[in-house]
Amino acid sequence: MRIPTLPTWFATKASSAPTKKDRSQVRVGIPKVLNVWSTHQFWVGFLKALGVQPENIIFSSDTSEEQGREHGKGRGTVDCCYPVKCISGHYGELVFGQKKKINVLLSPMLYSIPSVLRGNVVDTLTCTRVMAGPESVKAGFLKERDVFAEQGIKYASPFVSLGDPHCVTDQLYDGLKDVFELDKKETEHAVAAGYAALDAFNAKARGQSRKILEWCAINQKPCILVMARPYHMDTGIGHEIEGELQAHGYPVLWLQYLPGDLDLLNWLFEEDMRIGRCKNPFDINDVWTSSYSSNTNEIMWGAKVAARCPWITCVVRLSSYECGMDQPTFTPAQKIVEATGTLFFKFGDLDSTKPAGSVRIRIETITHYLSKYSEDIIRKKRAYLSDQGPLLEGEWPERPEVEAESPAPQEQQEQVISVV
Ligand code: SF4
Repeated sequence: MRIPTLPTWFATKASSAPTKKDRSQVRVGIPKVLNVWSTHQFWVGFLKALGVQPENIIFSSDTSEEQGREHGKGRGTVDCCYPVKCISGHYGELVFGQKKKINVLLSPMLYSIPSVLRGNVVDTLTCTRVMAGPESVKAGFLKERDVFAEQGIKYASPFVSLGDPHCVTDQLYDGLKDVFELDKKETEHAVAAGYAALDAFNAKARGQSRKILEWCAINQKPCILVMARPYHMDTGIGHEIEGELQAHGYPVLWLQYLPGDLDLLNWLFEEDMRIGRCKNPFDINDVWTSSYSSNTNEIMWGAKVAARCPWITCVVRLSSYECGMDQPTFTPAQKIVEATGTLFFKFGDLDSTKPAGSVRIRIETITHYLSKYSEDIIRKKRAYLSDQGPLLEGEWPERPEVEAESPAPQEQQEQVISVV
């Protein structure tokens, strides 16, 4: 007699949570370089969702001459910009400089990155040196013998389009499945957790920048915008120039964490949109048509915001030695900023040396100009805007506790590098 077989007998039960392997003892080292500075929370969220313990996610320390000398000597790349050149020191610190050895060195090759401008620009790609940096630096650790294998470290360098979320699960599964013994479902879950962590961090940092602007508007005080690439927050790349300015009492905003709130931006760009100069506050077509590169796009957008926002009375531009991407933006960015009388200062060709003496003299010059001209700059830029604005003076029932709640830039910088 034929016994009917119920199809459900052999079906696997659908489970809402992906199965997770025990990765609590896996130690993952991440070189804190290039666009890891703007995507670190994605990697923390991703790894934590895979079961890696927060204390086992180790970022290398800030760039320094000692780091390069001690851990990267003889393994460097040649003929390159300083932020790439110094990566070998970060790799070396993670490979040789840990009391407790790492098991995995994770150095993603970022092809594209999330950006507040996405949808309004051609693309949000990284610089080609950012994309290829891990490959060229890895070569220095393989040229004589495989240092990673010798140290028992798995080297993982997945190619990732973080700016195109629909690609990321497949890319990270392909790039990391053998390293972490991943399955597709848990990769998908971890990618979602990574984006959630990154979005939450960015929203918090942008919110705190808005509080700084609100404080400036209420008190009619100027602030400074640092226009640089995310990795200039590294004290060994940007040399803490913004910290020196802050020590003179001027709040500092970082380009990457400018507020993206529409109420504020619509107010700043109201006239530009009315006369058709731009379609919306994130449109940079009027100043930068070849808008492929994410960080470059944001530099041009930051210049526009600075030109319009009354309380940003000064822009400080930082740029690294041998940066080919920054070169074409120098003149247009300066012209945009200065078009409304906003002060503009540039520190170019930054490398491993901190020219402390000349930095101090320039800081004194900047603060002199700020104290002399800020009041006038605020008044003139304020006159260009309509009266109904979210930051207009006197519209709040009471003064917010800015000192207590909003980040001092140094604190904001520390949040950026905080890993858990
Ligand atoms: S943007 Fe400039 S500094 Fe950054 S990796 Fe590219 S060339 Fe180097």
